[in-house]
Amino acid sequence: MFTSLTNQTPTPTAPCSNEIVPEQQTSQANQPPRKLYAEVVVNIPLQKIFHYSIPTHLRDSLISGMRVKVPFGNKAVTGFCVGFTDTPLPYKLKDIISVIDKTPLADDVMLKITKWISSHYYCGWGEAINAVIPPVARRDVKEKVEFFVTRCDALLALDENTLLQIKKRAPKQAKALEFLLENAGEISARELIHISGCAMPGLRQLEKKGFLAINNKSPHIADTTCDFGPLQQHLTFTEEQQNAFDIINRRLAQPKPGVILLHGITGSGKTEVYLQSIAKALEQGRKAIFLVPEISLTSQTIQRIKARFNNVAILHSHLLGTFHYSQWIDIKENKVDIVIGARSSIFAPLKNVGLVIIDEEHENTYKQENNPRYNARDVAILRATYENAMVILGTATPSLETYYHATLGNYEKIVLSRRIGNQQLPPIEIVDMGEEVRKRRGHHIISQRLGYYMNQALSRNEQVILFLNRRGFAPYLHCKRCGFVLKCRKCDIPMTFHKKLNTALCHYCHAEAPPLESCPDCMTGNINYRGFGTEKIEDEIIAKFPQYKILRMDSDTMRARNAHEKALTAFERGDVQILLGTQMIAKGLDFPNVTLVGVISADTILNLPDFRASERTFQLISQVAGRTGRGPKGGRVVVQSFNPRHYSITYAAAHDYEGFAKKELEYRKQLNYPPFGKLARIVFRSQTEDKAKEKSSVVSEKLKEIAKTNGNQLEILGPSPAPVTKINDMFRWHLLLRAQNHNSIHDALQGISDMLKPSKSVQSMVDVDPYMML
Ligand code: ADP
Ligand code: ZN
Repeated sequence: MFTSLTNQTPTPTAPCSNEIVPEQQTSQANQPPRKLYAEVVVNIPLQKIFHYSIPTHLRDSLISGMRVKVPFGNKAVTGFCVGFTDTPLPYKLKDIISVIDKTPLADDVMLKITKWISSHYYCGWGEAINAVIPPVARRDVKEKVEFFVTRCDALLALDENTLLQIKKRAPKQAKALEFLLENAGEISARELIHISGCAMPGLRQLEKKGFLAINNKSPHIADTTCDFGPLQQHLTFTEEQQNAFDIINRRLAQPKPGVILLHGITGSGKTEVYLQSIAKALEQGRKAIFLVPEISLTSQTIQRIKARFNNVAILHSHLLGTFHYSQWIDIKENKVDIVIGARSSIFAPLKNVGLVIIDEEHENTYKQENNPRYNARDVAILRATYENAMVILGTATPSLETYYHATLGNYEKIVLSRRIGNQQLPPIEIVDMGEEVRKRRGHHIISQRLGYYMNQALSRNEQVILFLNRRGFAPYLHCKRCGFVLKCRKCDIPMTFHKKLNTALCHYCHAEAPPLESCPDCMTGNINYRGFGTEKIEDEIIAKFPQYKILRMDSDTMRARNAHEKALTAFERGDVQILLGTQMIAKGLDFPNVTLVGVISADTILNLPDFRASERTFQLISQVAGRTGRGPKGGRVVVQSFNPRHYSITYAAAHDYEGFAKKELEYRKQLNYPPFGKLARIVFRSQTEDKAKEKSSVVSEKLKEIAKTNGNQLEILGPSPAPVTKINDMFRWHLLLRAQNHNSIHDALQGISDMLKPSKSVQSMVDVDPYMML
């Protein structure tokens, strides 16, 4: 049993994302209490603070934000000290065993932010701290040695035959060699092992044969550019940019600069406004954080920033799982001016932040889909409030939440309505695929219209981008005779056929199954490969346009390191005429020779059971369309759909964001969905369906009781089976809480907290302000 357990759950002020306000300074902050007892949180999913007494010899060294070793149950665990009290508790407390850090890992702002995350997103405070302090920083202060691999001359001299032999004998070693053949430079052994599957002993064998060299060294600041080489000059603003900048500049000088929505159409030059705003913040002696939706997809933007500033740190978190220790320390020690990174970079230990920029603020990737399920945009606004910094939310298609705040006057909106050089936005034509089927008496992936424009553009040596939000060859293996669909055995999801791999894949749990020829159910029918993904389109294009080169960019083809950069360079150079891809190619790309964009199907998202489906469809079409018409040759967009009259498509085709937002807000208001009502989703997972169902109904009954006592401020939708009823052998039921404000949601969650405790038979997952509805 825990001796030092209190039920004094902290109740931090829990601002809703539309009214994020910092906590009041407590009297404790002004008058440091005597350090008799420490408040400690540990990494468990409970919103509880535990108290320990501080032995006299540790009283001077312990500061909040440091880690401590504490007795917990019958073990010793690591926790974070989050505060102190000198009020004696009515029971005997255990002593802190030791203090781990010499300096705090989390400063006061980070403690406040994590406390807010824990109460707003319903997770443990300890869990929140653990999630925002990267593991490298938590490692004991000695640096970890890492191995790096480079190729040697012997590898470059390797002939095909020898490579083939290695391939037969040791396919994973061959894969590592192939990777090195394609990639000059250095790769961490961990990444190479991840990519090739060849473990360290295999790499050592290759080293012995002289194909590669392995060096060990401390992870260095590979991506902090501190060189003082010549920097590029800022561009001269257009009038619109100048206006935008003037407003930002004025606000930056204010003590509480607030939030700006920079609503600029694609190609309107938002990046230049960001860059000069950063320069202004730096001039004032402050620092900047620049958030991008995904590092690997935004290399053009990152290059532009690096070309203008020194002391830029780019935080990669994908393959290495975390960013480098020395980089974290560099940031903490004020050696870095600008931090660029994906959502977790909002927790960078930068001091004196004056400006946070969130590029493409509407992107889903800012929402973390595992615990703590925070939205980096909302955390950024909170952090900026604590640090009196400015936030710029930049996008061509604001999320409705952000747009609504701007209409309420919570954020100042600045509009960039024209493209640089007065380029026109491309005309968007909608092709009714239903009519196409009737006209041509059958399904064709590429409509006659799109085919015609492709021929035109390609014959003029221009380039084409084709977009489809679905990878693989065919999303269904289906028996025409009995209706059987091949589903994953562990998930309730049709498997996608991948032709190159010659296998059916589950996109949820990655299970594989051999492709089928005849139906395993009725034993007589032939299996039909229905629907299409990027892989099938690639085949179709190769057949139809054999004289042109096509490049497919999706997560199947872009596994290798630097694959994105290489692909985009090939496209930029004109080695490739047709770029085909998933959402990977929807944003950020700026290639003037692209005169045609084809959206193969606008329906993939529209048909999802998600209240954001229309919004996401509108955003995607607008973003993809933004990839063309960027040069003197102009551009055009063709959108294929079976719902050609859907308002998300027609407004996108008319480049009418305001029209779309107005209509969508009406719907959201009627249905009380965000930005009006606030939501929380609870998913119950169990190996037995009955248990998931039973738990969800018990919880929902309790919630309905709570709703009654709170004047029915709270609605409970469901419980029902989740749209994806089973993932990885776990059955899923869910319910949705909807309320007028976050407080009602938080109160309700507190009211059922006992029922949500981790249990073996049913796991429950709470998601406040959810994005994933499947
Ligand atoms: P957005 O991010 O709004 O889509 P970009 O920042 O990519 O737009 O700008 C589009 C193009 O216009 C880029 O090639 C950029 O270098 C160029 N550009 C931006 N501002 C200016 C300017 N003031 N003068 C000249 N070129 C500019
Ligand atoms: Zn599966």
